[in-house]
Amino acid sequence: MANWFDSPGKPSIKTSTKADIPDGLWAKCDNCNEVFYQKVIEENLWTCPECKFHFRISSRQYMSFLLDEGKFTKEIGRTLIPKDPLEFIDTQPYPKRIGDMQKKTGINEACIAGEGSISGHPVIMSLLDFSCIGGSMGSVVGEKVARVFKRGIQNRCPVITVNASGGARMQEGILSLMQMAKTSAIAGVFAREGLIYISIFTDPTMAGVMASYASLGDIIISEPNALAGFAGPRVIKQTIREELPVGFQRAEFLQKHGFIDIISSRKNLRELLVKILSYVSIQ
Ligand SMILES: [Zn+2]
Repeated sequence: MANWFDSPGKPSIKTSTKADIPDGLWAKCDNCNEVFYQKVIEENLWTCPECKFHFRISSRQYMSFLLDEGKFTKEIGRTLIPKDPLEFIDTQPYPKRIGDMQKKTGINEACIAGEGSISGHPVIMSLLDFSCIGGSMGSVVGEKVARVFKRGIQNRCPVITVNASGGARMQEGILSLMQMAKTSAIAGVFAREGLIYISIFTDPTMAGVMASYASLGDIIISEPNALAGFAGPRVIKQTIREELPVGFQRAEFLQKHGFIDIISSRKNLRELLVKILSYVSIQ
């Protein structure tokens, strides 16, 4: 995972094997240890039928139950691929990391974006994929998100972002950080057009993504127990040298403190969006 804002060494949040769903016929929920048919988990929209734990899922899985027909009618920025201006080498050269990610996930970048509809209501949407270099925002992710807002303005259409990210993409250095300003600026232009922006947090929505466009939604919805913040709890704890409150930076804590408007289980999310979009279309 690439997170510009974390302390050196291990990042404060990372893909937890606990949150990943094993392949195969059976799947065990590592939160409650119950074992289920994989199919049952899928029918439950990748949440545990027993303890309601929300597994991390891909952007395409998210689209499958949120959008009509489970897909975009028109994709935005599909051919955009990142460059390597810094010739960055971490454990391996950045282009190789990108190539491996593309092979593994079948998508070009951590963000997919496009036009679609939810129960007939047109929306422009971007979705991040945590399995793609931690859903980190580099120049391509930032550009796609910016195009989403621009298309929203062109089409006079609500924008929805589904966020899952460790933050900015360190392999792109300052070009990555610039995406925070770029996406926030265009989200501001979109807002001044009087259009509605719904931001959805999934676990985790952190750092550069949270501190830019993801936190600017007119309505912020979160999946239960999603971690959302700027620096991670471990970094904050080390910095201020104090114990953090129970549930710090989790969705329920953030809702209690006014940062998140609605917590919705994945199973109720589409219905909730239909309700909101219906209100908006009446106005
Ligand atoms: Zn469970």
